[in-house]
Amino acid sequence: MKLVFLGPPGAGKGTQAKYLEDNHGFVQLSTGDMLRAAVAAETDIGLLAKDIMAKGDLVPDEVVVGIIADRIEEDDCTAGFILDGFPRNVPQAQALTQMLEEKGIALDHVLELDVDTDILIERINTRAAENAAAGAETRADDTAEALAHRVKVYEEQTAPVSAYYADQGLLVKVDGMQDISTVTGQIKQALSL
Ligand code: ADP
Repeated sequence: MKLVFLGPPGAGKGTQAKYLEDNHGFVQLSTGDMLRAAVAAETDIGLLAKDIMAKGDLVPDEVVVGIIADRIEEDDCTAGFILDGFPRNVPQAQALTQMLEEKGIALDHVLELDVDTDILIERINTRAAENAAAGAETRADDTAEALAHRVKVYEEQTAPVSAYYADQGLLVKVDGMQDISTVTGQIKQALSL
């Protein structure tokens, strides 16, 4: 199954994608994780992305489109993948449509996790505090300022992606404000898993 997960920062996309990866064998393709790995490894892409990400802005489209185009060619994607954090604006969604058409791949569903942005800001602040307490490194963009900016970028640039897929009849929405296992159950139902 080929899926796209949509939802603002802190909506729980990563948690739910991980569940589907562990239990259904789909590969989670998180552009955020890939870019953070590039930053840590100080590759050319990482050096370019570092400051942009710390502010909560979007890395240039051609960079993320290139990363995803290469990644979905890999063998582990044949059984299914979940795009998490991509596409993040309509031009990326259009690029994805074209890329998949060229490869003869069709998306099965686009799943949107619906959440209240005020509550998700609390969730991310809790995640940052828990990570810090556990001695883990805090994400450079988990500061209150960068987070507010990430939410604004989502509302302005990513929210229209949901209409793009609704027009194609691919969009399914699940209420992301419920507890994790309830959300998982509703996702499985929505995807007939
Ligand atoms: P979040 O938890 O905010 O949803 P991610 O881990 O998905 O964040 O992404 C973190 C940062 O990585 C984004 O704020 C952005 O700077 C960059 N990024 C990730 N995916 C994309 C993308 N598809 N296009 C542009 N920038 C991206």
